[in-house]
Amino acid sequence: MRWTKPRLTLLQERLAAAYPEARCALDHGDPFQLVVATILSAQCTDARVNLTTPALFARYPNAAALASAEPAELETLIHATGFFRNKARNLIGLGQALIARHGGQVPSDPQALGALPGVGQKTANVVLANAFGVPALAVDTHIFRVARRLGLSEATTPEKVEADLCRLFPRDTWIELHHQLIWHGRRTCDARKPACANCSVAELCPTGKGTIADPHTGLPVLAAAPGKQGPPALPAHSGGPQRIISLVPSVTELLAQWGLVRRMAGRTRYCVEPTWIRNAVPALGGTKDPDISGILAQRPDLVLPEKDENTRDAAEALQAAGIPIHVLNIRSAADARRALLELGDLIGVPDQAKAAAAALDLKPRRGKARRTLILVWREPWIAAGPDTYVADLARIAGFEPLGPNGYPRLSDADLTALQPDVILLPTDPFRFTAKHRKELEHYFPQATVSIVEGKALTWMLSRTGEGLALLRELRKDLAV
Ligand code: SF4
Repeated sequence: MRWTKPRLTLLQERLAAAYPEARCALDHGDPFQLVVATILSAQCTDARVNLTTPALFARYPNAAALASAEPAELETLIHATGFFRNKARNLIGLGQALIARHGGQVPSDPQALGALPGVGQKTANVVLANAFGVPALAVDTHIFRVARRLGLSEATTPEKVEADLCRLFPRDTWIELHHQLIWHGRRTCDARKPACANCSVAELCPTGKGTIADPHTGLPVLAAAPGKQGPPALPAHSGGPQRIISLVPSVTELLAQWGLVRRMAGRTRYCVEPTWIRNAVPALGGTKDPDISGILAQRPDLVLPEKDENTRDAAEALQAAGIPIHVLNIRSAADARRALLELGDLIGVPDQAKAAAAALDLKPRRGKARRTLILVWREPWIAAGPDTYVADLARIAGFEPLGPNGYPRLSDADLTALQPDVILLPTDPFRFTAKHRKELEHYFPQATVSIVEGKALTWMLSRTGEGLALLRELRKDLAV
């Protein structure tokens, strides 16, 4: 999936919420100490560097002391950080260069910094950002891995990944993003075992969803067999129902995001996200015409329909056959948040559900709302009325949804009478195109007509956060 501006914003919001305390992990008191610690951190953990530097800084408190250090003594002090001979040589050279060229001070100029012994582009960026507050995005091993897994970059060198990230994200966020991505790589997106089931950005990650193979290993994450795309493994807590059938595409996607696909006994043929689910879970009819006998044959211990997406007849037939069902009824973003928590308890993954619910920001935008018509079908025109889920997302983002409640059919005259300022055309379930936008612009020359990513708006639960972010971004772009 393409990284649009709203998705990038959502990613940053999620990372900021997950790692509010993210900061430089190297202990330092001034630019000199930071540049020394960063040189020592090559091929070494930050924790080990932090154990080494107190004694080192006590012995060599400034550039002058370091410039005249005895190599053997310095090597002994930094031995635990590895490559100690090479690092000692660089540190002494660093001290001498700082004295000779910069009066003993660490320069804040990128070129001058990069020309110092032992200071490559990555070290220079770390020092610029953390010692001088200069926006920079040093790509270390964690950022390299996380950026590629998230599909933010397909580049194969840290320099090119850095260039891609700098292109995608606003300059004034580079420093915090640098720390957040490192913390994410350390705490969640582990090199060998990424914790996708507990990842705060899983719904945005093509690797976690199984859309692409893990660029770090070349395999699907947590795949059953090498080289073969498959569902993620169960999370540690595997209580609750073990043969779940989802009749709702977005709920199926949510179960996959929570790493529960191995507990699924069926889905509808419209449940096609993530794409590999088609090979992992059998399709049992459609959303409006589920294959009831096929569902019964699977002996499910939980079936999940939704009030609007599925039919009452199907729910009653399953209940009559003694199948446990849990009917979701989602008409608002608050309903979606509640449903996440209910599902988490019901299925036995309450922590994941709480994390997903907590990540939803439902605070409504203040200020004037734009009169907005949300159309979901053509021939006939069908709108999403003010009491629908998608309208509630729009309301939170600062739009005023128009029209009768429910999903009313509207004539051309009905449309004209509503006098919208904004018309939104989600690309799902109807595939609106530029042709439809032009048609509406012709009839409503004063209105702004926007085609918007449909699944983000209509796939409740699995994409509620994404939908809100998209609409908020769109609202920001529209002049009041
Ligand atoms: S979903 Fe998995 S691969 Fe993607 S960022 Fe999260 S932990 Fe990493």
